Amino acid sequence: MIFLFFLCATLLISCPSEAAAPSAPKYVLIFLADGGSLGQLEIARLYNRQVHQQELVITGKIMKEGFYGSLTTHSADRLVTDSAAAATAMAGGCKARNGAVGICYDGSIPETVMERARKNGMGTGLITNAPIYDASPAAFIAHVRSRGDYGSILEQYLKFTPELVLGGGRDRFLPQSRTGTQRRDEGDPILLFKAKGYHYVSNRAELKEARGPKVLGLFHPGEMSFEHTRGAGIEPSLSEMAEAALRILHAHNPRGFVLFVESEHIDSAAHQTDAPSLIHAVREFDRTVKLGYEFYKKFPAETLLLVTSDHDTGGLGLTGAASARDLKKLQSVRTSFGKAARLLGERPTVGAIDRLMAEHFSGFVLPIDLKEAILKRKTLGPPFPANPTAAALSAMVSRQIHVSWVSSGHTNQPVFVAALGVGAQQFRGYQDNTDFGRHLLTLLQAKRSR
Ligand SMILES: [Zn+2]
Repeated sequence: MIFLFFLCATLLISCPSEAAAPSAPKYVLIFLADGGSLGQLEIARLYNRQVHQQELVITGKIMKEGFYGSLTTHSADRLVTDSAAAATAMAGGCKARNGAVGICYDGSIPETVMERARKNGMGTGLITNAPIYDASPAAFIAHVRSRGDYGSILEQYLKFTPELVLGGGRDRFLPQSRTGTQRRDEGDPILLFKAKGYHYVSNRAELKEARGPKVLGLFHPGEMSFEHTRGAGIEPSLSEMAEAALRILHAHNPRGFVLFVESEHIDSAAHQTDAPSLIHAVREFDRTVKLGYEFYKKFPAETLLLVTSDHDTGGLGLTGAASARDLKKLQSVRTSFGKAARLLGERPTVGAIDRLMAEHFSGFVLPIDLKEAILKRKTLGPPFPANPTAAALSAMVSRQIHVSWVSSGHTNQPVFVAALGVGAQQFRGYQDNTDFGRHLLTLLQAKRSR
């Protein structure tokens, strides 16, 4: 080796050197659009351009400046994956059965991206607007046979002690004597997290002041509110959580960190075949990714930025008659289909439906057949969701802005992956979702060149 260096220095030729050893990113930012697809991004991009005269950062910057690829998503036992199996593939590099979190199809326990990061002395953080114990974030740390084993997932979080945990799901953190809990015991995980040195925050203002090094933030009993129904006060947005996370993790982790940020709202809106909520969710996801992009711009030689999805939900697309005017109509929608369904309840009246339309869907006209369906509680069947109100609103919007859904469930479409920074080239081309996990694990194993 010494001779080789001497030769290279003498002849001024390019030779392999210490610097050529595969470099590991110091900062890894993973942005996951749960249930997201390229088709959804494209509709949100067109909407943003028509209504706000803005580009998306994901398509306009990251996909253009970085490497672009797609991932197949089938699980070990199903052609169409769920979030648990997909996240296990992406966090641990192995195929899993639907429902399994951090356990490979053969029963083996993979090392996850976060576990390897910890071995490197890096900080770790999980953010989602789902309950924080939900399958996608869970698969980056926990190992359970069933995604519903929330008790074990929380115990494993507590044992692993990620530096940062922000999201919904306070209902599993409160003892049964408290209101708004799902626990059937007097267990008090918030106390246990505090005993391990966590600063606990429960609203937007507290999050702004949170300093770390360890922060637990629980902002909703269940899934956090959709962006356009969130209200100003209590809950932070996904981008506000990411902003706090980047600030705190960067301040306290001199050896770098891995941050996982998930928008569950994309999946949830697509399950409701709720195009307006979906577009707002993608736009908020994009604002969140923008923070990652700005972070990358500050530390381009040390950062790997990944934007991807675990599976498509809904198979959404515009149909041939769609126009820019249709997209503009979506601005008038002021609530989600789910919230509208809760508002009308199971015995809606004509007056209540008319009020709903005037207040929340002023750009749309509810056809008589769909009004009847809401009043008589008639389900519309696939691809619409089971709730008659949500289904009718979806059918109305779909007809009048010319969008089409394949399903209110997951589909098998390959998903996008956009990568920028250290090791980004690994993610280009057509690959499997297990390759995503394997590349990340390899990059985190690579010898640091600095
Ligand atoms: Zn889903």
